[in-house]
Amino acid sequence: MAYLEPAPIKDKENPFDSMMSRFDIAAKLLGISDEIYNILKTPARQVIVGIPVTMDNGKIQVFEGYRVIHSNILGPAKGGIRFAPDVHIDEVRALAAWMTWKCAVVDIPYGGAKGGITCNPREMSEGELERLVRGYTSAMLSVIGPDKDIPAPDMGSGPREMAWMMDEFSKAHGMTIPAVVTGKPLVLGGSLGRVEATGRGVMVCALAGMERLHINPYKATCAVQGFGNVGSYAAKLLNERGVSILAISDMSGGYYNDKGIDIDKAMAYSQANKGSLEGFDGAEKITNEDLLTMKADVLVPAAKEDVIDENIARKLQAKLIVEGANGPTSHKADPIINEKGVLAVPDILANAGGVTVSYFEWVQNRLGYKWTAERISRRTDRIMKESFDRVYQASIDYNVPMRIAAYIVAIDKVAKTYQFRGGY
Ligand code: GLU
Repeated sequence: MAYLEPAPIKDKENPFDSMMSRFDIAAKLLGISDEIYNILKTPARQVIVGIPVTMDNGKIQVFEGYRVIHSNILGPAKGGIRFAPDVHIDEVRALAAWMTWKCAVVDIPYGGAKGGITCNPREMSEGELERLVRGYTSAMLSVIGPDKDIPAPDMGSGPREMAWMMDEFSKAHGMTIPAVVTGKPLVLGGSLGRVEATGRGVMVCALAGMERLHINPYKATCAVQGFGNVGSYAAKLLNERGVSILAISDMSGGYYNDKGIDIDKAMAYSQANKGSLEGFDGAEKITNEDLLTMKADVLVPAAKEDVIDENIARKLQAKLIVEGANGPTSHKADPIINEKGVLAVPDILANAGGVTVSYFEWVQNRLGYKWTAERISRRTDRIMKESFDRVYQASIDYNVPMRIAAYIVAIDKVAKTYQFRGGY
């Protein structure tokens, strides 16, 4: 099903520290005052709830749910809900801050939030999951809302979970309120283009990066790690624009074909095989490390956090990295990548296509109107390209890698907004 991605590998590095180390560099370069620095690094609201759920065996199990609103000064907070056995509040806090920077980089009027539920959705029945989602929504009724905080899917959740959330929230308010969540099924007010949106943004950033590096897409090669909805659509859309996808991977391992993988075939195979590429015969088996370090012009890490660590960074051969996942590069790998002259398009820019189309979904819900697929792709492409150019320009102006430049663009916008709005 769309959006289902493998659970993140825990704690090689604390994700909040990883985020803050980049934030600190950018804040220093911008000359942010200590007061503003402290405001920007502190989440506005952190909520932890216990959710009792009657399981199919009749016993009650209590799950823990989180929602962290990092910032709501640019507008209502926005961000997905992660369903995984090892979700931790630290991770949710880091991801919430990332959402603030992500929305600011692409200049959409949202703050940042993230949610999490410690559960293993793969081992739960549909009924158990539905009760869990309804329990979470009911516990968070005072937190979420179309003008306050708007959840969306993240790892382990998708349109089905969003439908239950929307329904539970609507029932509690006695009217249908589609704009409370995004990433809904189309029939409930979901947007055309939402499923492939993150992959689409990755494609736009990859093409823009290739242009800067003078790489002809028709002669370019690419490796994509992760074949969930981000990786698969990034691979498909890049392939349609001439790029040869030499390798893909998912939880079952890596798959390599020196003539290029038939992406439509791989997508159809994975879909028919419960979301797994296991047994895919269009390629030979390789390891994850082989994929990340192979000779290909472009690397798209689209699976999980911290996969490009110092060891991988040293062996890396790609000229361009486009981060489909959140936090795929550990902060300790940054200097190695920069030294090698690799152009790394950071997560908060590269994967912002998803939240951009979420924004379009929310706008359509509020207008009570539906946009065509053509309008959505055109506007997504424009926002992603303009954002890429803005960050690239900041990287020249400040003489820093694109990752720090993206933080500079984002922090500058949030800090200025705060200064104008003022505090107590
Ligand atoms: N979970 C996605 C992200 O990390 C989408 C968030 C949203 O659409 O609100 O960007």
